[in-house]
Amino acid sequence: MAFDYDVIILGSGPAGFSCAMQSTKFDKKVLIVEENDSHLGGTWLNKGTVPSKALKEAAALIQKFHSQFGDEKGRKPFEKFRMEDLLQYKRTILDSKNKKVKTDLIKNEVETARGRGVLLDKNTVEVTNQLGTSTKYTAKNILISTGSSPKPSKQIDVGHSHILDYDSILDLTHIPRRLTIIGSGIIAFEYATIFSALGTRITLLSDTDDLLPFLDKEIKEILLKILKKKNIQIIKEAEIDGVGKNDLRTCMEVGFRVKNSDRLQIIETDQVLHIGGKSPNTKKLWKKGLSVKIDSAGYIKIDENYKTSVPNIYAAGDVVGEPSSAAVSFVQGRLAACSMFDMTSDKPTVDIPYGIYSIPEIAGIGLTELKAQEMGIDVTIGRAFYENVTQADIKHETDGLLKLVFRTDNLQLLGVHIIGYHATDLIHLGQSAMANGNTIKYFIENVLNYPTYSEAYRIAAFNVFNRVYKAGVKYKKILEK
Ligand SMILES: Cc1cc2nc3c(=O)[nH]c(=O)nc-3n(C[C@H](O)[C@H](O)[C@H](O)COP(=O)(O)OP(=O)(O)OC[C@H]3O[C@@H](n4cnc5c(N)ncnc54)[C@H](O)[C@@H]3O)c2cc1C
Repeated sequence: MAFDYDVIILGSGPAGFSCAMQSTKFDKKVLIVEENDSHLGGTWLNKGTVPSKALKEAAALIQKFHSQFGDEKGRKPFEKFRMEDLLQYKRTILDSKNKKVKTDLIKNEVETARGRGVLLDKNTVEVTNQLGTSTKYTAKNILISTGSSPKPSKQIDVGHSHILDYDSILDLTHIPRRLTIIGSGIIAFEYATIFSALGTRITLLSDTDDLLPFLDKEIKEILLKILKKKNIQIIKEAEIDGVGKNDLRTCMEVGFRVKNSDRLQIIETDQVLHIGGKSPNTKKLWKKGLSVKIDSAGYIKIDENYKTSVPNIYAAGDVVGEPSSAAVSFVQGRLAACSMFDMTSDKPTVDIPYGIYSIPEIAGIGLTELKAQEMGIDVTIGRAFYENVTQADIKHETDGLLKLVFRTDNLQLLGVHIIGYHATDLIHLGQSAMANGNTIKYFIENVLNYPTYSEAYRIAAFNVFNRVYKAGVKYKKILEK
C-alpha cells in the first residue's frame, strides 16, 4: 500500500523536531503536524526551556549589574527595570529561534500541517485546523511527540492573573514585589532565583522535607546557604489550605499548615506561582480501537526502541515520562527515527547529566559521594571552590564548588557535581572524561586553557593528587601506571 509519507510526526517540540531532521537525512518523506497555529518548537521554544532561560539570563545580567555598581538611590532592580524589558529580551530570542526552526524544516524539505492531529488508525492521521477544516494524511510510521502540559491542581485555581503556572508567568506584565511559589522541583527553584535577582521577595512552599533529593549533599548545603543570603524563605512540608484574594489589603493570601501542626499560617503576597506536576498530552489522541498502551498517569508505554504497543507507532519526549527534558527529547526523537528506518545508532554510554538553571546554576552526573558509599564503593573526593578559580575571580562569580568523585582503587572518575557560574556547561568535560573511562591523570596531565572555569577540574584533581600523594606510595603507584 502506498502512503503519503514515510513518517508523520505529531508535535514539533524537540522530540518531533529531531525525529524529523534525522528522518530527512535518511531521505524519508516527513510531515510534522503542529497544533499551535503560530509557533513551532513546543514547550522547548515557547513555554519552557528557552523562554525561562532567556528570562534567567536577563535577570542574572541585572543582578550582576546591580551587585557590581549598586544604585545611588538605593532602589531595588524592580524599581529600575520593567518586566516589559525582560519580556522583550525573551521575545527577541524566541523570534530568532522560531525562525531558525522553520528555516531548518523548509531547508530539509520537512512538510508541516497546522492543526490538531488525531490518529484514526495505525497509518492515518486526521488534522483539524483552527477553522475546523479536516484533512487526512497517511504514513508508514507515526511518531507521537505531543509533549506535556501543566497538571491542573485540584486545590488551587490557576486563573492566570494572580495565580500563575509555568506557562502564564511568561506573560506577567510587571515584576512583583512579593512572589509565593508553591512547588519544590527544578522549575520552582529556577523561578525563585530569577525573581529574587530582580529584587522580588520570595517565599517557596515545598510539600516535601527533602528538597531536590537527587543533589549531592554538599552542593545542596551550598545552595541553601546561597538562597538564605538572597533572603529566599523556604518553608518545608507545607500543606496548602487555600489561596485567595484579600480585597481589603489588595493582596493575595496563601494559607498553609506545616505537617503535623494544626496552626494555620497565612502569607500575604502579590503573586502566586504554582508549579505542580506535568501531565502527558495523550487525551483523545487516537480513536477507540487503536490500542496504544498507556500507564495509569497517561504516559505512553514504549520499548527500548521507542516502539509503542502498535508496531509502526513510536513515541518520544515528555509523552513517555521521565526524565522529560528537552535535552533527552532531542536524543529520543533521533533514536526513534533510527529505529523506525532500521538504522543502527549507539545509545548514550554514560548517565544523563542534569542541569538546573537557577542563579547560580547547578549540574551533576554520575554517582554522588553518598550514593557511592551506599553501594559500598570506596571513593576519594576532589574539591575546587570557585574562589580559587581565576576566571571566577575575574568575573566576580566566586560562589561555587566543583566536586569530583573518584574510585579510590584506580582513581577513575565516577561523578561530577557542580554549583556555580557555568555549571550546566562545565559538566560536559566531566561527562566526556567519564564516557572515556578516564582517571584523574586526564586532568593532571593535559593542558587546559587558562583562565577558564574548566580550571576547576584541574584544581579538584590536584586536591586529590596532593592528598593521596602525601598519603603514601599506594596511590603514587596508581598515578605512575
Ligand atoms: C519552565 C520550564 C523550563 C524547562 N527548562 C528546561 C531546560 O532548561 N532544559 C531541558 O532540557 N528541558 C527543560 N524543560 C523541559 C522541556 O521543555 C520539555 O521536556 C520538552 O520541551 C519536551 O519536548 P517534547 O518534544 O516531548 O514536547 P513539547 O516541547 O511539549 O512539544 C509538544 C508539541 O506537540 C504539540 N501537540 C500537542 N498535541 C498535539 C496534537 N494532538 N496534534 C499536533 N500537535 C500537538 C504541542 O502544541 C507542542 O508544540 C523545561 C520545561 C519547563 C516547563
